[in-house]
Amino acid sequence: MSERDYFEKDYYAALGVSKNATTAEIKKAYRKLARDLHPDKNPGNKQAEEKFKSVSEAYDVLSDDKRRKAYDEARSLAASGAFRGFPGTAGGQHRGGAGGFDLSDLLRNAGAGGDGGFGDLFGGLFSRRGGAGRASRGRRGADVETEVSLPFRDAVRGTTVSLRLSERGTCPTCHGSGSQPGTSPRNCPVCGGSGLTSRNEGSFAFSEPCAACHGTGSVIDTPCPTCHGQRTVVAPRTVNTRIPAGVADGQRIRLAGKGEPGVGGGAAGDLFVVVRVAPDPLFGRSGDNLTLTVPATFTEMALGTTITIPTLEAPVSLKVAPGTASGRKLRVRGKGIRRANGHVGDLIVTMEVAVPSRLSAAAKDALDAFAQTQTADPRPHITAATGAAATRTAGATAGASAGATGGA
Ligand SMILES: [Zn+2]
Ligand SMILES: [Zn+2]
Repeated sequence: MSERDYFEKDYYAALGVSKNATTAEIKKAYRKLARDLHPDKNPGNKQAEEKFKSVSEAYDVLSDDKRRKAYDEARSLAASGAFRGFPGTAGGQHRGGAGGFDLSDLLRNAGAGGDGGFGDLFGGLFSRRGGAGRASRGRRGADVETEVSLPFRDAVRGTTVSLRLSERGTCPTCHGSGSQPGTSPRNCPVCGGSGLTSRNEGSFAFSEPCAACHGTGSVIDTPCPTCHGQRTVVAPRTVNTRIPAGVADGQRIRLAGKGEPGVGGGAAGDLFVVVRVAPDPLFGRSGDNLTLTVPATFTEMALGTTITIPTLEAPVSLKVAPGTASGRKLRVRGKGIRRANGHVGDLIVTMEVAVPSRLSAAAKDALDAFAQTQTADPRPHITAATGAAATRTAGATAGASAGATGGA
């Protein structure tokens, strides 16, 4: 949006908040409106769509302290009539700085000529040169957000996805003029092509989009057969994009310039893709490392073994050393997530003893025989802890009774 919007639009009114509203109040008002007006909730409702846009625009400015300040300043300048000293509004001789006041910071898109649309204060600066002037304006296209669900392994390896979007874009038949090819729109007789009419509010006047031409400044006599004069059409669009390796669930990827096309030479908006990653039946993830739990029998852990385990690439052999504890983590280097910048994570394998729930008679006999050989205490610290606790309990009891005796 351009700074001239600051003079034209009442963002506070758009959100229904007072000029002294706090950031929290602004946010609350915006959330409610955005919910009610969201295009998904009002399919095909042009009015809701327009309102949704203006509410979003108002929120963009008012939620940003810096921009809100600039906006408030611009509005109070307009209200105070600080620009009254400008030379006449009939010609196109003044652009930007005039009367000793440099407007270039505030008005990037100052036009020429006009009819005093803004209560004679800004007419010359703000009006558009009919149909042609429209093109010089240039509005950045809207940002678009979409979601994509990826299987775990595609997210880890990186993949190319086709995103199917359905959105409003410039009509391909009339290239946004709204007129049947070969014909042209004519200047709106109500606003004289400026697209703006002035409105009085309180002590000052400001302009608003012309109701007759919806702010376009032009009237279409022979509408384009494709868009019926709407200038835009809702069309499906497919965007193919590379999702980088290692994308995480919930991550938001920005694709610059892949949003809605700009209007009148404005840049395209951005496309934001929120990635949903489905869990994998085998692998988990911790940063750039993959995780895998591998059950093994007690004898495998005690005697040592070699197990073949899967990776994202070919399976690898994992050597389990004799006497490996249950829960021990083994690292397989370089078998994690491979980032575009060359960084590669590892595969972290957690060894876990699997205890059989049933034993055959032969297995039971063998285990009994094995148990006979086990003389060492497998949990000396636990045994020690219970022994120490017993001593302390005795001491505490003695102390407590001694204290009770002493107190009485
Ligand atoms: Zn008009
Ligand atoms: Zn068209």
